[in-house]
Amino acid sequence: MNIATATPKPVAHLKPNEAVQLYFDRAAANLGLDESFCRLLRTAKRELTVEVPVEMDDGRLETLVGYRVQHNNARGPMKGGLRYHYDVDLDEVRALASLMTWKTAVVNIPYGGAKGGICVDPRALSRKELQRVTRKFIDQIHEVIGPDKDIPAPDLGTNAEIMSWIRNQWEKYHGFNPACITGKPVEDYGAKGREEATGRGCGILAFKMLKRLGRKPSELSVAIQGFGNVGSHAAKYMHESEFKIVAVSDISGGYYRKEGLDVPGVLHHSLKHGSLKGYTEADSISNEQLLTLEVDMLVPSALGNVIHEGNMDAIKAKYIIEGANNPVHPMADELLYENGVVILPDILANAGGVTVSYFEWVQNRQYYSWDLNRVRQQLDAVLSAAFEEVWQEANEQNVSLRTAAFMIAIRRVKRATELGGF
Ligand code: NAD
Repeated sequence: MNIATATPKPVAHLKPNEAVQLYFDRAAANLGLDESFCRLLRTAKRELTVEVPVEMDDGRLETLVGYRVQHNNARGPMKGGLRYHYDVDLDEVRALASLMTWKTAVVNIPYGGAKGGICVDPRALSRKELQRVTRKFIDQIHEVIGPDKDIPAPDLGTNAEIMSWIRNQWEKYHGFNPACITGKPVEDYGAKGREEATGRGCGILAFKMLKRLGRKPSELSVAIQGFGNVGSHAAKYMHESEFKIVAVSDISGGYYRKEGLDVPGVLHHSLKHGSLKGYTEADSISNEQLLTLEVDMLVPSALGNVIHEGNMDAIKAKYIIEGANNPVHPMADELLYENGVVILPDILANAGGVTVSYFEWVQNRQYYSWDLNRVRQQLDAVLSAAFEEVWQEANEQNVSLRTAAFMIAIRRVKRATELGGF
């Protein structure tokens, strides 16, 4: 069967994994991939669902559910973050795991893709509870992760400290090996520049894209949704590169100043208070309003599916940099593309994090540490090369940047699969 004729049209109620598959199918159709190979590349290698029983501080027993989906290892050990969020479920983790396969392939680092998560609101746990949850989860999955198998990293709701607990717990079973996890604190075998890498990468790529489009950052107003690891570092780098950041937001709401925000001031407030709540030097707006502001560029850097059927007609930005994973629903993606909006897709836009995670793993394996300049230069080199390839593919094939990125990634994974044989 020619899958070109079978490519589904996007509908409003797609689940996260159906959305990723739709992007995959579109690119696979352009590549003329046959259905049997598509089935192989769509299917996860392994999916684990585990119970995470944990004693709470007040003595109660809570049983949480954790997941690790290992999508593909044709190009190397699998790699992908761990998410702690109350919306985590198997379908979402499955979608994010396959995105990791395409992400590592598009930036051409020697990894496959995986993802994990626990369905929990980390803000509702004490630090001790969070640590117990993390250690229990690793007890359940330690056998299938490790430096040559599957290397977790931070994602939504997890951070460097949690990565240190994971290293410690994994090493209780397998012995010293800091390359078993990335995104660790710098003083615990982490890489300099890892924390800033995803947001910085968004900024580097936004800059490259504008250059190709013949525009200057100083001409552009930008709104950033999410002010955690990705959003705050994207804001910092973009502000330093002369973009005019007019709006930012986090779970507490949005903050807008038409003339441009005092980004160092916003960063200071967020560091001091742990959130943007109470920031008074800008107008308060909602997260929904932020997305439909009269701005040139949007950088959604919080959750998935925030630009969808319900608000796609109201989007005014001409450029979207997908800091978050899966922030644009396929229906909106199609409409925005037809309207000439240029979307830099997640598998490239937020690949800075996994790229520096790869540098961290390389350093750990060599017991050697790079300085920040080297990390930043290498990050720039990897992302620039990937961007140019995607840009060229999109122009040559007359497809969106997303389809072009998927096509490059699928081609690489297919080639590695064929070389390895079955
Ligand atoms: P984080 O937990 O550090 O920050 C998340 C931010 O989103 C916080 O500011 C939070 O307040 C905000 N937020 C949460 N719910 C919200 C809501 N309903 N509306 C608006 N804002 C909300 O997470 P992060 O690491 O910055 O990850 C953000 C996104 O980027 C996720 O989609 C993640 O998968 C993706 N991502 C992260 C990395 C990384 O290296 N951290 C790499 C690639 C992709």
